[in-house]
Amino acid sequence: MCYGLRSQRYRLRRLRVGVRPMRRGLLLLSSPGARAVSSAAPQVVQPSRARPPCSARPTRADVSLRNLRRNFQALSRAAGVPVWSVVKADAYGHGAPAVAAALEGAGSGGLCVSLLEEGVELRQAGIQLPILVMGGAYPGTGSEFVAHRLTPVLSRLDELRRLAEDVSADGSRSLAVHVKVDTGMARLGLCAADVPRAGELLRAHAGLRWVGLMTHLASAGSDPESVRLQLQRFGDARRALNARGLQPQLLHAANTAATLVHAESRLDLVRPGIGLYGFAPGVGAAPQLAEVMRLRTQVIALRTLEQGASVGYGASWTARRQSRVATVAIGYADGLSRALSNRGSMIVRGRRVPIIGRISMDMASLDVTDAPGVDVGDEVVVMGSQRGALGEARVSAQEVADLSHSIVWEVLTAVSRRVPRVYRED
Ligand SMILES: *Cc1c(COP(=O)(O)O)cnc(C)c1O
Repeated sequence: MCYGLRSQRYRLRRLRVGVRPMRRGLLLLSSPGARAVSSAAPQVVQPSRARPPCSARPTRADVSLRNLRRNFQALSRAAGVPVWSVVKADAYGHGAPAVAAALEGAGSGGLCVSLLEEGVELRQAGIQLPILVMGGAYPGTGSEFVAHRLTPVLSRLDELRRLAEDVSADGSRSLAVHVKVDTGMARLGLCAADVPRAGELLRAHAGLRWVGLMTHLASAGSDPESVRLQLQRFGDARRALNARGLQPQLLHAANTAATLVHAESRLDLVRPGIGLYGFAPGVGAAPQLAEVMRLRTQVIALRTLEQGASVGYGASWTARRQSRVATVAIGYADGLSRALSNRGSMIVRGRRVPIIGRISMDMASLDVTDAPGVDVGDEVVVMGSQRGALGEARVSAQEVADLSHSIVWEVLTAVSRRVPRVYRED
């Protein structure tokens, strides 16, 4: 029997998971330029992210490596144990190679990604830290894990057995693995009853070296009682192993919220993600975290509309007065949620101005009537702060998330590939 958390007490967010079909011998690849590999043995192709290093269009995501390092240090101080930085999903949209290199330099104990390809990408970028692949080991990938010194997190007994075969077939080196226990998240992880069996299997396989035992918390930022229960179950799993003489060295459970709020969850290391990028939703007394990404574009057209004239697809906004309307070079294909149509704000000349009309694929419109002096070529801040002739203002990713019925994780990872990331030290 697997654990569960009682649903009326624990509001679980529905996860939207995009599943792409995968056949045996065909590894799913994330980019348009990637080749399909149809040989019997799966092959990992470097994800070509198709992200232009530059673009004629002046839309950019600035990434402050200084703020990233400061957030890392704040989390390290709060944790008091090594931080294994979570850089999955291209470092939450910030660009994994550059972010990982900065965190390696700042003293991160290890890195966590979701996919094998994400780990390979970091090795190819020269990252030396231990890299935990939290999404597990798909069939036939054992030799890739060994070749790139990547550490899979195993969540099923059949996954463990198959990897053991893969790796022993590969011969040579032993592969470090972590095992995940499901203590109530009900997503990935062994049921508690299977943990000792996993331990026995690992002991029997010289090719696999058992290093870590982990779990993941469902409501670290909102439900202390559920955290207590999950940690108690995790402790039970560890004791069951110890009773059989099995002793993984690294125990870990804490995401950002748990790292900051639940001292008892810190164990041997912590795995913060969102906090590194400047957010700690649900955490009241968070240390000073600074947003790392600043999303900006420019005014590319300006017009004056008479009262009664409408803007954009579906004519969903109509001028109540004579209005000055600016067109900006960012749309939903860049990751600007269409849910912000006729809602959110952007900043120009240091003043907040409303988004009007529907957001289109490549553009959006702003009512700049109350921001005199706006011109074509002016910088427009979509997320982040700006100082200008009319003052100083800020739009946070949290505000964008709230307005679009989303969460900061989704807002950040939505910033698409065609927006070049610019790494800055300020
Ligand atoms: C994403 C993830 C984290 C990091 O969570 P944050 O809330 O972003 O800090 C930690 N552990 C696992 C297993 C994850 O999937």
